[in-house]
Amino acid sequence: MTVEDKVYDYLVIGGGSGGLASARRASGIHGASVALIEGQDRLGGTCVNVGCVPKKVMWNAASIAEALRDAKHYGYGDQDNTATFNWPLFKQKRDAYVKRLNGIYERNLGNDKVEHVQGWASFVDQHTVRVQRPDGQAVDLKAKHILIAPGGHPVQPDIPGGELAINSDRFFDLEDQPQRVAVVGTGYIGIELAGIFNTLGTKTTVFSRTQHILRSFDPIIRDNLLKEMQTVGVDFALESKVHSLQRSASGCIEVRYSEGAETDKVLEVDCVLWATGRDPNVKSLNLGGAGVQSTAERGHIIVDEYQNTSVPGLYALGDVCGREELTPVAIAAGRKLADRLFGGDQFKTSKLDYTNVPTVVFSHPTAGALGLTEPQARAQYGDDQVKVYTSKFVNMYFSMLEHKEPTAYKLVVVGAEEKVVGVHLLGRGSDEILQGFGVALKMGATKKDFDSCVAIHPTAAEELVTMR
Ligand code: FAD
Ligand code: NDP
Repeated sequence: MTVEDKVYDYLVIGGGSGGLASARRASGIHGASVALIEGQDRLGGTCVNVGCVPKKVMWNAASIAEALRDAKHYGYGDQDNTATFNWPLFKQKRDAYVKRLNGIYERNLGNDKVEHVQGWASFVDQHTVRVQRPDGQAVDLKAKHILIAPGGHPVQPDIPGGELAINSDRFFDLEDQPQRVAVVGTGYIGIELAGIFNTLGTKTTVFSRTQHILRSFDPIIRDNLLKEMQTVGVDFALESKVHSLQRSASGCIEVRYSEGAETDKVLEVDCVLWATGRDPNVKSLNLGGAGVQSTAERGHIIVDEYQNTSVPGLYALGDVCGREELTPVAIAAGRKLADRLFGGDQFKTSKLDYTNVPTVVFSHPTAGALGLTEPQARAQYGDDQVKVYTSKFVNMYFSMLEHKEPTAYKLVVVGAEEKVVGVHLLGRGSDEILQGFGVALKMGATKKDFDSCVAIHPTAAEELVTMR
């Protein structure tokens, strides 16, 4: 075991979205001495390696499949396009892209003079972190300030045969496209990966333990998206419970489940994917050694609005805190924290405002949510203060097609001045449309402000400034 004499200004545990952003801001902009500890042999964390990036690349691939299907309706011949998706070849290209990104992240750390320490970190005490290096050696590092940003991992129910299924991490290891898949869970991950599978031609069945999908989203999104996914061929087992998985004689997986009142149902598939949520990576950190408090239920680290944990000098952010588990949130919180700790007086109250964070589900079509849902607004302000504007229509893109994918928008406004507190979008292009409306809500826009903006025609987004 080595004990380093040096006391860093800042030690960062976790080389993912939040940790990298905070370390680079602290060293590159504010000149602090910083070491970043990452357990894996690649930087970037969940987003780059098994999250946003490879997922979006797969979503792009699926969107091209849709365009190929639509092509004949736009005059590209009169036959179905017979091009098929080459999953194994595309996986290689996708992996190569992610590897290039890993290299860029490594170089960026060097450019900002952050010391990269590879190994798994755990606390010795509140100023000391032990790093187990890949060569078996351990080293103790000390710092005045320590950021805990270790992210999370997928979890799955404990049922017989549960280990036969994959999770979102292992989705990105699939070498071949399964012909039939069961996806359990209807949060972001379940809905996004089910959409990709289905659009690329895999027979997809989604299991929801309720009647809904995307439970935390506004009803206009969850109801219309569920209907649309059913229309394009995704099977849903609603109010269902998966009891066991079993390898069949033919090498497939038998999913045994109940659906509503029917208790003994069986579905045979090639692949089962758990998309049943994520827990924080806290077990191996020995948080108790540093006295850091976490929630009893799932172990999320408890922080205040400045990302301070219960121990002075120790901070936490990103997925490990369980709030708005999104890459830009982790990045923004990381940068704000570095500014506050090392940026001098002008940044001493720097913190991330977690309100009105825009978020998108890369479903088919995409869904965007910003601010309060209608039920949240009614609960917070009272029914008499809340008004909603909705619009449901078919995007002009589908005028040439037999299939009429829905677009559904909702604005939630409150009070006499009709301040906009929620924007909920489902439909082609929602992922790109929402960002600008995020700025408008940050500025406190009212419905009148929306209406005072001249529409861009012909677009879908113009509906948002012409709603009655
Ligand atoms: P992470 O990025 O997970 O980084 C944590 C790092 O810490 C990891 O590299 C881990 O190896 C390391 N680590 C853990 N424990 C230790 C230890 N003891 N010692 C040393 N290192 C350690 N968000 C979006 O905004 N848009 C999306 O489209 C999107 N898509 C997603 C798709 C999927 C399938 C998933 C799973 C997530 C997606 N997310 C998306 C969420 C996003 O990836 C996370 O919110 C984000 O990565 C969280 O950043 P973080 O810094 O908290 O943790
Ligand atoms: P979520 O918490 O969003 O969804 C978990 C899903 O699993 C829910 O549908 C839940 O059902 C269901 N579930 C939980 N336990 C069980 C069980 N025992 N049996 C059956 N179903 C179960 O988690 P995800 O893993 O989908 O995503 C984690 C986070 O990652 C997201 O919250 C998001 O912040 C981030 N993310 C962001 C993306 C983006 O920005 N586009 C994409 C992917 C992830 P119920 O609804 O009934 O609770």
